[in-house]
This record gives sequence, C-alpha cells and structure tokens, in this order.
Amino acid sequence: MFQKILIANRGEIALRVLRACKELGIQTVVVHSTADADAMHVRLADESVCIGPPPSRDSYLNIHQIVAACEITGADAVHPGYGFLSENAKFADILAAHNITFIGPSGDHIRIMGDKIEAKRTAKRLGIPVVPGSDGAVTEEKEARRIAAEIGYPVIIKASAGGGGRGMKVARSEADLEVALQTARSEAGAAFGDDAVYIEKYLEKPRHIEVQVFGDGAGRGVHFGERDCSLQRRHQKVWEEAPSPALNAEERAHIGGVCAKAIADLGYSGAGTIEFLYENGEFYFIEMNTRLQVEHPVTEAITGIDLVHEQIRVASGGGLSVRQEDIRFQGHAIECRINAEDPRTFTPSPGTITHFHTPGGLGIRVDSGVYSGYKIPPYYDSLIGKLIVHGRNRVECMMRLRRALDEFVVDGIKTTLPLFRDLVGNADIANGEYDIHWLEKYLAKED
Ligand code: ADP
Repeated sequence: MFQKILIANRGEIALRVLRACKELGIQTVVVHSTADADAMHVRLADESVCIGPPPSRDSYLNIHQIVAACEITGADAVHPGYGFLSENAKFADILAAHNITFIGPSGDHIRIMGDKIEAKRTAKRLGIPVVPGSDGAVTEEKEARRIAAEIGYPVIIKASAGGGGRGMKVARSEADLEVALQTARSEAGAAFGDDAVYIEKYLEKPRHIEVQVFGDGAGRGVHFGERDCSLQRRHQKVWEEAPSPALNAEERAHIGGVCAKAIADLGYSGAGTIEFLYENGEFYFIEMNTRLQVEHPVTEAITGIDLVHEQIRVASGGGLSVRQEDIRFQGHAIECRINAEDPRTFTPSPGTITHFHTPGGLGIRVDSGVYSGYKIPPYYDSLIGKLIVHGRNRVECMMRLRRALDEFVVDGIKTTLPLFRDLVGNADIANGEYDIHWLEKYLAKED
C-alpha cells in the first residue's frame, strides 16, 4: 500500500480523496494555488505545497511543479481527482517515468479514450453498441453526404478531440450539411488544435445513461450499475441519479455485463465511466471517461462501496475488494450539483459565503469544501458542493431530498439551490420522465 498520496486537485474532490486516504491510514499531501491557501483540503492535509499563482495553467495544470512537489514530500502516488490533469496521458507517463504511481489507468488507455474516433472504434471492437455513423474522420463533403444519406437525417458532426460539448453541429437535412461540416471543423480546430470530425446519427430524445466500471489491470472487470444524468444544461450535468428510472433489472444486468467484459478485455486498470445515449430501449456509446466522475457518490450510496478506496487499492496492486456478485444495488440515490451561480441566468456568483449550513439526518451526504466565511475565488469552476440523498426507493429519496433542500442554507452568494427546490416539486421529475433536452426546455419556459 502507498505511504503517501499527493492530491493534485482542489475543492470538494480534493477533500473527498483526502477522506479516503485518511480512512486507509495513508499520509496526504495537497498542492494548491495561492488563491486556495485557506481551502479546507489544505487545512486538513498532513502536508501542503503551494505550487503557483491562481490561474490553473500555472498551478493545478503545472505538471513540472506537481512532480517537484512529489519529490520534495516523498509522495509515492498521485490522485488527480476529476478535471485538471485527470485525463492527461502525458502526466500519467511522466509520473510513471519518475516511479510515482498515477492513480488511474495507463497513459495509453487515457490516450485511446481521449480521441473520440479511436474510442468509438475501440468500443465497437470490444462489443459495445455505438451510434451508427462514419467509421473514422470525414473531411470531404461528398463523403459526408453519402454517409448521412446512409444513416438518415438528422445527423450530428462531432470533433474527435471534443470535450465539454464543444465542436458539435447538427444537420437536419442535406441542405444544412455543408455548413455544419465547415463550422464543426473550424470550431474544433480553433478549440482543440485538431480539426478531425466524424458523423453520427442524431438521436432526438435520448437519455444519458452511464455505466460505472472498474478494471483491476490484470484482466478482471466489474460494473457498479448505471447513473442517469439526463438532466443537463449546455451539456453540463445538473442532477444525477442511480438507478436510472428508465431501466429494468434485465437491461441493467445486460449493459453492465457488456461493459465489464469490455473493460476486462481491454486490460483496463482503475475506475472508468462508459457513457451512452439511450433511446427506445437501445444503448449507444458516446464516450468513456478514464477517471472518477463528479457524480460517483450516487453509485456509492446504492452499493455501499467507496470507489476512491477501490481506486487506491487497484493502483497499489491490491486488486478490487469486490467481485461482481458482491455488488448489490440498494434503494435509490440522487445528487444535486450546487453551483455558485445565479439560478436563473447561471452566471457565476463568486464572493464570500457569510453563512453555510448543511442538512443532515439519515440518507444525507454533503460533499463540499466550503464553510461559513469562505471566499470563493473567481478562477475555477463554480461547483461549491454536492447534495447526495439516499432512500429505500425513489419516492422516499425524493421526499428526503425535498426536506434536505429546505434545510440547506448558503448566504452571501447566489446558488442553484432554488432550481432544485423547483425541480423536486415537478411532476415529470417525480415520474422520472425526462430526456436530455427536458431541463433546457423547462428553463426556457420559466423565463
Ligand atoms: P463531450 O465530450 O463534448 O461532452 P459527448 O460525446 O459526451 O461530448 O456528447 C455530449 C452531449 O452531446 C451528449 O450528452 C448529448 O447531449 C449530445 N450528443 C452527442 N452525440 C449525440 C448524438 N449522436 N445524438 C444526440 N445527441 C448527442
């Protein structure tokens, strides 16, 4: 087992990883920018190293400084959290070259999944169902026209290097195709320095359902069921739940089994999420994330398994603590992402939190790094906490969520809490009847 883990992240996820390390009796080092000197994870860690000024590229993305911090403190492993360097293959390779363990998959697996064309090809080879579309990159309009006619309109043009929902364009008919192709390519080139794009069938009303998987790196793969993350705004997840209100037990076991086998065949190591669009009973792979997800606590709530413990075990060579048959799903969990944003316009609302009071009681978990008197720096994303609620079934979970939202107090800044108080009373949400466009339509109506 590791002696000392360096946490290369900030905010709630740095604290989340720190808690797992403490439980496992592992020493902790955190790195932080000058803007985060007062952060909770810095206060609670055994050691901390300031690695630079506020901008991420000078601190949390500064590989050189992070490796130096490992060497100074003698850390033998790095947990990257999510975002920042968590899906940076070069970072994983550099750590390996310094004999420091990257708590995540190999650089090569990160590289494959970071390129969407390559990822889709790999998924298909491993028996995962994919969205019908082009086999690889498409450059010529003629070829695009032929493929689109074959799969049928509408189609979506997507950037191979894409991320965060950028570089995607929908063409509803052949008349739109040329413009869509050109715009997607130039946007992709500008945003990612790579203008490779591909075409796939555009699904009109899918749900976003993702499967949590784990590989032990030695040919074993397991799944921890799915999460439904269909409630999104601008491709950003807002509310996540497990299990999905749309799946039955057979569908769950089937898609979970397909994903676990794929992970085993790939020889993958650590945590991963295989994301699908789901429509009319069919799953369509869109991408795989090779890291821990923001929404992992809903899976922890229904399985009772600490996924960060498992990541650390696997990375240290200790293997998974569970076999597939040990993973049982109990009850229902919902996570609300609480952002420091105006709940109507979603513009960031940094500033000082004058009063912070979190709900408690059975089935409530709050993952947050903020506290009364904490000043939210303007340099990073606006997530200030996650409320995760667990109940014996979805109805109990929703009742508990409503009560927890009433108890939650964040004063001094604007937050998205009022949005969740609205959603929890909505009939479609109560019935679990929503797709990936539901939230944006709802917000447009409210305006
Ligand atoms: P990114 O990595 O940029 O987030 P994804 O491939 O995960 O890109 O897609 C992001 C979102 O775009 C999906 O959650 C979905 O809302 C939409 N999307 C992607 N592909 C399709 C498709 N074939 N049909 C309909 N919507 C899609």
